[in-house]
Amino acid sequence: MTLHIPFDNTYVTLPDAFFARVAPTPVKAPSLIAINLPLASELGIEGLDDPDLAAVFAGNAIPDGAAPLAQLYAGHQFGQYSPQLGDGRAVLLGETIGTDGVRRDIQLKGAGRTPFSRMGDGRAWLGPVLREYVLSEAMHTLGVPTTRALAAVRTGEQVIRDRPLPGAVLTRVAQSHLRVGTFQAFAARGDTRGLQTLFEYAVARHYPDATDPALFLDAVMRKQAALVAHWLALGFIHGVMNTDNCAISGETIDYGPCAFMDAYHPETVYSSIDRYGRYSYAAQADIIVWNMAQLATALLPLMPDPEAAVEPFTAQIHAMPEMIRAQWLSRFGAKIGLTDPKPEDATLITELLGLMQESEADFTNTFRGLPDGTASDHITDTAKFDAWAQTWQSRLETEADPERVMHSANPALIPRNHRIEAMIDAATRGDDSAFHHLLAAYAHPYDDDPAYADLRQPPQPDEVVAATYCGT
Ligand code: AMP
Ligand code: MG
Repeated sequence: MTLHIPFDNTYVTLPDAFFARVAPTPVKAPSLIAINLPLASELGIEGLDDPDLAAVFAGNAIPDGAAPLAQLYAGHQFGQYSPQLGDGRAVLLGETIGTDGVRRDIQLKGAGRTPFSRMGDGRAWLGPVLREYVLSEAMHTLGVPTTRALAAVRTGEQVIRDRPLPGAVLTRVAQSHLRVGTFQAFAARGDTRGLQTLFEYAVARHYPDATDPALFLDAVMRKQAALVAHWLALGFIHGVMNTDNCAISGETIDYGPCAFMDAYHPETVYSSIDRYGRYSYAAQADIIVWNMAQLATALLPLMPDPEAAVEPFTAQIHAMPEMIRAQWLSRFGAKIGLTDPKPEDATLITELLGLMQESEADFTNTFRGLPDGTASDHITDTAKFDAWAQTWQSRLETEADPERVMHSANPALIPRNHRIEAMIDAATRGDDSAFHHLLAAYAHPYDDDPAYADLRQPPQPDEVVAATYCGT
């Protein structure tokens, strides 16, 4: 094997309660769909001309230095606490320190059963694997903190869902796979020693300045506030913001039934399992606060006097909506050309969003059209839009370069749902050309490349995807 992954593993040195050692289950006939060469080189991986790449990224061949394991975690799923989740179909191969000095996990998702699989088969089918590959890479080029996709392989096996479907494995890269739910798992069991070990590990890995739980909570809250505001600014709906899908690193993780919104409506939901809109577009700003409250609760046992810490922790959580609001103002301010928006500028933004909602305007194209005057095409009430635009123009007079600000805050391309679904349909039939085409297009989402003009079109009525399904 010429492939060399410079593993430097730390998670495996934690106490036994943190994970189960488990090897990936080999698959019948691995074949490589994609390998992310730039990311591989950032991770320090060499020898990518290895003919056995598919075997490695399917879990059939374990690369030297790997220490495969499945991590324990728990979490609130749709508000209900599940005491033991864990990697039911993911296997951590190990960690590398990248050329940027950052430690990252390399994980196979869909690699077979683990002690945490419960009723599941430990597998993934091709659709969710390709969706996660394209969406996570697009999020990265859009500028949003996210897990990455290093490779995708077909397994040559079928997985049974509502029908037999082609199986696949995704190689996911993350700054870590520590979740709010990892803390909850130890807190809920009353394992304060384990919790303390986890806390120290997370601090060392992500927030070395956060020397106590309150500082740590604040650091995670800041990252998450910035992350969710960034999602909102791009019309992204995560879809399953359970506490086990909420990364301590502040990266977007677990691309299940997620989607980017076409027509703007704050209550948009795509996930087929989100029947009450708990994780709708606009609800994300409230839910992240709820998730951080669960983290705060899990951290309490680490305090010398947990009872006395309830009040200051609660005060910290109560400060989070304002943190999100500030991030939202900064992101949406940039979308209308403002470098340093003031609280009073919020009206200008919400008025535009109101017009967009009434008009069912395309979120991405309306904002992208602001500098060149085509935004009005998306708004039905022209008189109202003109009045808004007049106020906006006078506000822009004091801005140095609003066009540039708007251009870099408003992408031309987002992974539109109908494109993703069509790509998955084609790949299920064995045609990966749409997958590669989308990957190439989303590599430069802020460019006006005429070659990808068709990808800017919102769905025709018959192309609209009403629901997206979980990654299972
Ligand atoms: P997710 O909805 O992907 O965040 O997964 C929630 C939990 O279910 C995690 O503990 C997963 O490991 C587990 N899980 C999801 N799909 C499967 C599967 N096919 N086999 C085993 N466990 C699974
Ligand atoms: Mg998950």
